[in-house]
Order: sequence, then structure tokens, then C-alpha cells
Amino acid sequence: MTNVLPSDLKEAGGRRAGRLRRRSLFLPSAVVCPICGGTEHRRIVVRENRFGLGDEFTYAICRHCRLVGLVTVPRSMGRYYEGYSYHARNAPKSRPAAGVFDRVYRRLSALLMRPLERYRPRDRYLRVLDVGCANGAYLAELKKRRFRHLKGIEPSPRAVENRVDRDLDIVCTSMADFQTDERFDLVTLNQVFEHFDEPREMLLKLGALLAPGGKLVMSFPNYNSLARLMLGSLWPGYDAPRHYFTFSPGNARMLCEQCGLELNRVRYISRPSQFTGGFQYAWNRFSSGKQRLEDGFFRTSRVLDLLLYAPAYLLNALRWGDMIELHIVLPD
Ligand SMILES: [Zn+2]
Repeated sequence: MTNVLPSDLKEAGGRRAGRLRRRSLFLPSAVVCPICGGTEHRRIVVRENRFGLGDEFTYAICRHCRLVGLVTVPRSMGRYYEGYSYHARNAPKSRPAAGVFDRVYRRLSALLMRPLERYRPRDRYLRVLDVGCANGAYLAELKKRRFRHLKGIEPSPRAVENRVDRDLDIVCTSMADFQTDERFDLVTLNQVFEHFDEPREMLLKLGALLAPGGKLVMSFPNYNSLARLMLGSLWPGYDAPRHYFTFSPGNARMLCEQCGLELNRVRYISRPSQFTGGFQYAWNRFSSGKQRLEDGFFRTSRVLDLLLYAPAYLLNALRWGDMIELHIVLPD
């Protein structure tokens, strides 16, 4: 989650000066795809929806590999990360338990969520690095499973300060600034890679952190998904302007190959939130409401959540789910 300006997409000119800053100073509409080098693209305007701010951002969608990249970059990202939740990233959204139904919901939701959760390695002797580890919840869980070699990096001082276990080894730094001679058997990024402004540089750096036989596991929204097709600019996966890029399995595979890595597995792990988030954004748009995503009716409705697990599973089975987890290795 770097706050620096993207440099991969070269953008020129622009009518909207002022609060939004355009990159580059050359030909109008010259956007070069950082993965395939294509220059043909179409554009989409996406609003900041998560916090109901409504600010508009332009994304370019490459016509060749369908990479989506942010074109209008704010001068400062601070406003868009205020109140960003570092604590509940993996937890089902719910209010405090009140009655029998709440307890049943929690049990059921936890059970249904299990196959969609983050990768759980088995070998507790692995040297693990969690990049963008937030409050260290994932590392803490591995620690409970008696993993011994755990490390995290996280750019937010607030998240590091609020880490769930004081004994966790978490370095407060961005991936761009992270320096180490250590090598890891497993490097994980849970919904972090799409926040990087230089995907190729970051993937090269991540690959260099792997020990021989090591594995990189990262998850992010999938552009090639039914939810994105259905919801258009209201699809929560864009999460403008926090997500610099939105990938799909095809262009992610290309990027891996360009970085000397091999994508050897794609897990589809989309959840009911792919729809409830979009419904909430649509409701906000057409009712002129400004409910934050986390507090909105559609996201907090337990009934809706449970009803949408079956469609989410089906979409994952069909490879149309809107969240993917990539398993990437160094080829022999
Ligand atoms: Zn492209």
C-alpha cells in the first residue's frame, strides 16, 4: 500500500487539473500497458464508493491483455485510507452477537467461509513472510499452529502498533523500501499486490525473496468475473483509487513469465461480498445515500450473506468468481 505515484502507466495532458494529478507530459491519451506494452485501451470512470466520498477516477483498460490501471492519481492518498480497516480483513462483517440467530449465523458463516479462506500451509518449518500483513492476524494464526519462522512487513504504523500479538516480528516498511538478505519458503500477499504502483518491479523483488523451491501466494480481485460484468463501475473490486491495478489470470500469468516466475495454480475464492458490496454501492448511488460499505444494509444483512454463498461457490467452480489466489513458483 504505497502512497507514491504510479509510474507504469504513462499518461499525458488532461483537463482535470487541481486535486487530481495526471502523470507524464507528452501525447494526449498515450497510455502504455505495463504488462503487454499495448497502447489501445478504453476508459472507465469509477467513484470512490467504500467510504461514500464519490470522487471520480479514470481507469484505462488495455484492449490486448485487459489489465486495468488507474490513470487519474490523487496527489495524496491519505484521505482514501482514513478509517481503512486493518482489523477485519478476513472476518465476516457482522454486528455484535445478540441472540440465537446471531450465533447460528456466525457458526454457519465460519463453516461456509472455510474453503474460501487464505492459503493454509502445512509444513510448520517453512520460513514465512507476509507482505502487507496489517495487524498480523494471519501470522498469529500460523503461530498458533506452531510455525516458528514468521515475519511480516506493513507500511501502516497504526496497524503495526495494533498488532494482535506483541511478539510477532513485523517490520513497519513498504515493500518498495524493504531490504533484507533473508530468503523465504513462502511469501504471501492478501489483497495487497493491487495496491502497488509498479507491479513488475514489485513482482521481481518478491521473486528474489524466494528460497529455492519457494512459493509466492497472492490474492486479488479478478477482472474476468461475473460480478464485474454485472456491476460495471459499481463492482467493489475496482476500489478506486486505492487499487492501482486490477488483474485477471491471463495477464497475471504474462507478468509472472516476464519476471521469470511460473503461475502454477489459480484458486477462485470469491465470497458473497462480491454482490452485497455492489448492491450497496448501487443503493448508495440511486438513493443518493452515503453509507460506508462496512455499515451498509446489504453488507451487514446476515440472511443475504448466507443466501449468496451457494452462488459464490458456483461462480468459483465456473472460474467466474471475482477473487483469485495465485500460487507462483520459481521454475526449476
Ligand atoms: Zn495490456
